[in-house]
Amino acid sequence: MFMPNRTLLKVIVLGDSGVGKTSLMNHSSRYVYKRFSQQYKATIGADFITKELEIDEKTGHFARQERFQSLGGAFYRGADCCILVYDVNIVKSFETLQNWHDEFLKQVNPSEPDAFPFVLVGNKVDVDGGSSRVVSERTARDWCASRGNIPYFETSAKEDYNVDDAFLCIAKTAMVNQ
Ligand code: GDP
Repeated sequence: MFMPNRTLLKVIVLGDSGVGKTSLMNHSSRYVYKRFSQQYKATIGADFITKELEIDEKTGHFARQERFQSLGGAFYRGADCCILVYDVNIVKSFETLQNWHDEFLKQVNPSEPDAFPFVLVGNKVDVDGGSSRVVSERTARDWCASRGNIPYFETSAKEDYNVDDAFLCIAKTAMVNQ
């Protein structure tokens, strides 16, 4: 169907298995759709699972398709924004961010790699009321600052904390990049 004013955003979400990528997207997608009243499509990389969320125009509900595929070039092609997610309670999920970041740039090969919009999300800040946290906000902000001031959000998909703000920023960032 021809939709003259639609904006199709391709958002790639990368991070270790279990950090909460799927949970974050499930919380965010309806909000982003409502906010912009435009078609929103997200492609989520949860290891080898790709999920595409598409809006049913009649019901406003999201139809979900899942399929297994490798993270090849087609997965990354046309990305408007890359969200890197880690779990603030698992140091390894923070340490692997650089790999995800580098792999993304290698695959997408943007003309201006330094200008490509990334957003970092530190998820699961609710766990044990924050007492099992091992990566500090300062450490994460320093990581972002040394990579061209990547925007940073701390979230809890479980308690729906800060997820809307994170995804509003992501949507704006991706649309500017179009
Ligand atoms: P993915 O593999 O990165 O897509 O991670 P999932 O979204 O499947 O989440 C992995 C597990 O962590 C699930 O059991 C989620 O319910 C849980 N989870 C996700 N986000 C949060 C969060 O913010 N807080 C807590 N406590 N659990 C979460």
